[in-house]
Amino acid sequence: MRVTKNVYWFPERGLLDANTYLIDDELTVLIDPGLHKYVKRLVKDMRGDGFEPRDVDVITITHLHIDHYGAVSVFKELSGAKIAIHPIQKQYLPLAGEVSSFFGIKTPKFSEDFHLGERLSLGSVTLDIIRTPGHSPDSICFYSPELKILVSGDVIFDRSVGRTDLPGGSGEELKASINKLSTFDTEYLLPGHMSVVEGKRNVINNFEFVRKYYFDWL
Ligand SMILES: [Zn+2]
Ligand SMILES: [Zn+2]
Repeated sequence: MRVTKNVYWFPERGLLDANTYLIDDELTVLIDPGLHKYVKRLVKDMRGDGFEPRDVDVITITHLHIDHYGAVSVFKELSGAKIAIHPIQKQYLPLAGEVSSFFGIKTPKFSEDFHLGERLSLGSVTLDIIRTPGHSPDSICFYSPELKILVSGDVIFDRSVGRTDLPGGSGEELKASINKLSTFDTEYLLPGHMSVVEGKRNVINNFEFVRKYYFDWL
C-alpha cells in the first residue's frame, strides 16, 4: 500500500517475515524482501499497487536476519534486479547462517552485485545510508531528506525496539543508534515490523516513548 508519494509498504506476511518497502523512482528499490516462503504473497501485494518484480532495479536490506533477507536470492531471480549491500554486511555475510539456524531455518545464499556507499541516488530521491548497530552489528537504516522517510529495520518500531540478545547485539549500541536516528527530520518512520508511524509529532513522541520505557533495561 502507498505510504506517501512514491513510497510503498508491503506489510509483513507471517511469522518470521518483515515489512517490505518499495521506492519507485528512476531507479526503483526494494528494501527487505522478507522471508523466501512469503515471496508469492509479496509479489501479489506488489501487483495490487501496480508493480511487477521486473520493475525493481535494486534489492537491498537493513540487516542480515532471515526475516529481512531470506527472499533476496529468489526475488533477484524473479526480477533480474541487482543486489546492493553495505560493506559491513559483506563482512558479516558468512555468519548470516548462524542466526538463521537459531530460528531453525536454512539460509538461502546470495551474493551482492554492488556495495552501498554513504548514499544511494534513485533519481529525484536520495537515500542516506546510516550505520545503526545494536540489534545486529550490520544494521543500517535508510533516510531520504526529500521524502522525510526513515526505514529503520529492527532498530526502532512503533512503541518498541529491536532485541539485543541475538549474536552481535548490544544494548548500548542500540541506544546510541536510536539517539542518532531521533535527530533526523522524519515524517514517516518505516520499521521492519509492525506498523508505520506517520506524522512528525507521532515520530518524535515514539522516540520519547522508547527512551522512557526501554532505555533503562537496554
Ligand atoms: Zn533482525
Ligand atoms: Zn526482523
